[in-house]
Amino acid sequence: MGDAVDVVVVGAGLSGLIAARRLIEQGQRVRVLEARPRVGGRMVSQPLSDGSVVDLGGQWGGNTHHRFAALLQELGLSRYPSYYAGDGIFCWRGKCIKAPLAERFEDSLVFFEPGALDLDAKELEATRALQQAFTALVAQINPRQPWLTPDAERLDRLTVSAWAAQQTNLPLAHLPLDWLCRVGGSGGFEPWEASILHLAWTQAVAPQTETPEAWLVQGGAGAVSLQLAADLRARSPEALVLEAPVLAIQQNEAMATVIAEGLEPLQARAVIVAVPPPQRQAIRFEPPLPPAHQALLQRTAMGGMTKILTRYSRPFWREQGLNGLGTGEQPWLDLTADSGPPGEQPAVLASFVAGERAITMAALPEAERRALILKDLVSYWGPDAASPLDLVEQAWNGEAWTGGAFTSFPAPGSWTSHARLAAGTECGPAPASHGRVCWAGTEVSPRWPGYFEGAIEAGELAASTVARHLSP
Ligand SMILES: Cc1cc2nc3c(=O)[nH]c(=O)nc-3n(C[C@H](O)[C@H](O)[C@H](O)COP(=O)(O)OP(=O)(O)OC[C@H]3O[C@@H](n4cnc5c(N)ncnc54)[C@H](O)[C@@H]3O)c2cc1C
Repeated sequence: MGDAVDVVVVGAGLSGLIAARRLIEQGQRVRVLEARPRVGGRMVSQPLSDGSVVDLGGQWGGNTHHRFAALLQELGLSRYPSYYAGDGIFCWRGKCIKAPLAERFEDSLVFFEPGALDLDAKELEATRALQQAFTALVAQINPRQPWLTPDAERLDRLTVSAWAAQQTNLPLAHLPLDWLCRVGGSGGFEPWEASILHLAWTQAVAPQTETPEAWLVQGGAGAVSLQLAADLRARSPEALVLEAPVLAIQQNEAMATVIAEGLEPLQARAVIVAVPPPQRQAIRFEPPLPPAHQALLQRTAMGGMTKILTRYSRPFWREQGLNGLGTGEQPWLDLTADSGPPGEQPAVLASFVAGERAITMAALPEAERRALILKDLVSYWGPDAASPLDLVEQAWNGEAWTGGAFTSFPAPGSWTSHARLAAGTECGPAPASHGRVCWAGTEVSPRWPGYFEGAIEAGELAASTVARHLSP
């Protein structure tokens, strides 16, 4: 039999790295096992041809992301406000127009001042009415136990599309909810893939109205995971092992044994599994996970998401009084956003292709993908957008150890059946711990699941739960 530690953490994403950091601070012996040859999971940066850095995964922090902001301070990293000065571009029915953003997301049509969009008054009224009905539903959600929401079963069996169609068939009215499904931060799914109960729950626990895209990390968010890993190694040189996918976790009354590829079996008093929920299925648990937990995992998918970063010689859109925020109805790019710092350089637009389109696009040859991306960018931002100095695509559904993005979502009906049956509170609202195994990862956080903020909270919750159990 191999080595022994107090706690094994599976996954060196933000959540696992935070769990390990907090446990080491409390004097526990920790080993983090990471499948990839790098740390960070969905928090990863890449240098461009000029040496500037972009985030292939998450990038923004939000107005109420207090843990994330505090972590940056702890690590000595700085942040800067996202660039929202000027007008954005809204595309609808083949027409792209320049328009101001609304003061508050809740009064907007996907960020925009509705009255400035030159849209049919009847359609705008129907859109407002549907948004109000959705807001009323969000207010009713039981955030910790969504299955206790009034009328939960019916709402969980109705897809977002079906619920919206019951209110109105005017296509514009469906746009705000479709947008939240596809590129809202809990998203990456089509409105016919998840229930209205699920979408309302995402907005109860991670509200777009709290501006989750308020600021960016100087030097890229990926710097956070790199620094966490460096700190971990400095405190305990053997604490982090890369290229060590965990294959099995066995446990008995006395001990857990973690089997990772290429390593001797590792014994621990507790294990924190900090991987996206569908990835738990690649690990063989002995004893096995309870039936309700397995059923829930089988019905939990990762979103469809490709992120595209384009760098230009200068932020030409800013020079035209535009802020880089483009959204609405386009063939491929659901959203583009200025992701550069306040100064001129680097001039970067981050764009997102979500849901089924991400999967469809990933199957096309590179030259075709590039042509489609540039065509949409030109529709948003004009001819200057056709010639980026760098164009980087990150198709998250092709990443073996993530499987999609931004986060996971349950199939319709799963909240009120399998999630209810699998629920526990020990490590968050998701399934309770499994013996010596405790769950972390952004998806199990009670607040901001799917975001960096949730990854931190889930890691901290798991660390404190485990530390409590380990203390004599
Ligand atoms: C394109 C994109 C844009 C996003 N935008 C934002 C944003 O702007 N703001 C925001 O707050 N959030 C954003 N997010 C979400 C954010 O990135 C995630 O919520 C967060 O990084 C998740 O961290 P995590 O540690 O929970 O999971 P992960 O980062 O997925 O980490 C899990 C780790 O476990 C490893 N692993 C998996 N299986 C095994 C195994 N069997 N054995 C060992 N290791 C394993 C993986 O390799 C990975 O390193 C975005 C995500 C993406 C992809």
